[in-house]
Amino acid sequence: MLKFRNTTILFTVIIAVLLLAKILLAWPVWPIGIAALIYLTVLFFGSYRIDSQFYLPVVCSAKTNDKKIAISFDDGPDEHYTPRILSTLKEFHFPAIFFCIGKKIGGREKILKAITDAGHLVGNHSFSHDFWFSMKSAENMNLDLSAADDEIKKIIGVQPKLFRPPYGVTNPNIRKAVEYGRYTAVGWSIRSMDTVINDRNKLLSKLKSSLRPGAVILFHDTSLTMAEILPEFFQEIKNRGYEVVRIDQLLNLKPYA
Ligand SMILES: [Zn+2]
Repeated sequence: MLKFRNTTILFTVIIAVLLLAKILLAWPVWPIGIAALIYLTVLFFGSYRIDSQFYLPVVCSAKTNDKKIAISFDDGPDEHYTPRILSTLKEFHFPAIFFCIGKKIGGREKILKAITDAGHLVGNHSFSHDFWFSMKSAENMNLDLSAADDEIKKIIGVQPKLFRPPYGVTNPNIRKAVEYGRYTAVGWSIRSMDTVINDRNKLLSKLKSSLRPGAVILFHDTSLTMAEILPEFFQEIKNRGYEVVRIDQLLNLKPYA
């Protein structure tokens, strides 16, 4: 599989050879431009495809034929949707992980506590969830992630070890921040697109058709459409003989430091 380091070495060699050919053999300049463009395209897709593991190891699913899956919710805690989702999870006896945003915890401490009291896990989804998070220096990322850890630890008493990068974007600085904080980066294998798809039937059929053994599903506890279809989707999971397990059990991870 392509990795950032190997790809960079490969394209540095290719571009150096093309440059030499231009100087010594009077080759045209456009092959250098094409090589640079291909390199930048690979970097871009590596950033936006979390499951490519291009910049750092990211656990996204389990290799298994057992009908076991894990469910995750990003971007909470939310006063409207998180309690509603917790009650649906309770009704079906399904466990989940909530990747919480540190700055949203103030004023919603009871909701965060209710998550762990119900037996679910809490992960770090950054403090700021800044749109430009991926552009921060590794040092500023560390500060941001530590601030989220502090907010979470104040309420639930333990420090998260599982981290989901905001927007699922990865790059070399995120790798450094993950290594420095000794986090496990966690992705997903099924992106529900629940913040984009507003049609309930469309969202439900997308989810039903993507169900696979070992899958990790990404939801957002900020989506009304998702909260509305969740009971029906959970029933489908049951009807098809799937078992929902906690992500630490599915992927053999340590959830807290
Ligand atoms: Zn997010």
